[in-house]
Amino acid sequence: MRDFVYRGLPSRVVFGAGVRRQLRAEVERLGMWRVLVLTTPRHTQRQLEGAAELRAQLGDLWAGTFDGAALHTPLTVTEVALERMRQLEADGLVALGGGSVIGLAKALALRTAAPQVAIPTTYAGSEMTPILGQTEGGRKTTLRDPRVLPQTVIYDVELTLSLPPGVSGTSGINAAAHAVEALYAPDANPLTSLLALEGIAVLGRALPRVVQQGWNLEARGEALYGAWLCATCLAHSSMGLHHKLCHTLGGALGLPHSETHTAVLPHAAAYNAAAVPEVMRGIARALGAENAPQALYDLGVSVGAKMALRDLGMPHGGLERALDLAFETPYPSPRPLERDGIRALLERAWAGERPETP
Ligand code: NAD
Repeated sequence: MRDFVYRGLPSRVVFGAGVRRQLRAEVERLGMWRVLVLTTPRHTQRQLEGAAELRAQLGDLWAGTFDGAALHTPLTVTEVALERMRQLEADGLVALGGGSVIGLAKALALRTAAPQVAIPTTYAGSEMTPILGQTEGGRKTTLRDPRVLPQTVIYDVELTLSLPPGVSGTSGINAAAHAVEALYAPDANPLTSLLALEGIAVLGRALPRVVQQGWNLEARGEALYGAWLCATCLAHSSMGLHHKLCHTLGGALGLPHSETHTAVLPHAAAYNAAAVPEVMRGIARALGAENAPQALYDLGVSVGAKMALRDLGMPHGGLERALDLAFETPYPSPRPLERDGIRALLERAWAGERPETP
């Protein structure tokens, strides 16, 4: 037996194929009258159609669309969107897209208390959490506040069919990273641990299929289900070294979000492995392997991800800056944070080496 504290978070989840068609009913349930739809700049035909479809569904409840969401929620973008919201007298938000769009909706909700419906189209997981990361002047800061948690999340598997194979793989491993860190978090609890192991197992099976058969609705459904489980872990537990490093690399050095998570995760797990052997055995079992850090690395390779930070545009000179930032604010870690150990972790991630067997 072990002691724990568990606090559930209130969010309504609608999951399935085609469930985006329930949007209007969900928006009405929250009492919205003038809805601002948020998206990223729409690159693909499918994304264009997606935004137009939501607008048609909202009908007279649609007030406008803002398509300027950007990675890591820059304050400059939030200010422009806030002004748009005021001009339109919007009283509710619908976020259609990945973590960038959902982050923007959260930033607006924090400042206006407007209710949100999140419609995620990647596996990043922000929609389930009361966490908001924002970037100002090249620095990313993170806050936890119940006001930023979307009231309703609509997971429509069909919307993930257009996610390109490369992004699908790394986005899914971004989700798995939440589960890995939830397992050794200081506030880990039996419920999130169950969700985490199931989430890792489901994603481990689904992601290689999704990357090869992006059109396969069943594989996509599994991946989105796994992503939801892992997002729930993120919502209920504190993240550690891995997330800290990725936030630093993304916020300060501009590295891409899910790709960076994929390259760093095996090495963050290897750093902590000896301190939490039971957790590592659980992760290895979930992935049908012997060694958890290596299995996480192999999962990245199997989805065709770049496993070296240098291939993601990180200059070698950036390692010391990342190291300094990683030590700026203390946070719990099963293995105490040691500068030399973390430098070695970053060197291996930079070079893209497979973690060694302990
Ligand atoms: P993203 O939202 O930037 O999306 C990546 C790219 O994929 C974008 O170009 C987008 O237009 C495109 N895209 C999204 N869905 C698509 C689809 N179905 N079909 C085709 N293209 C599609 O990236 P992300 O990885 O989803 O999110 C990363 C951001 O989310 C970061 O800012 C990160 O900090 C944040 N995040 C926050 C939390 C939290 O709890 N606060 C959790 C996870 C991630």
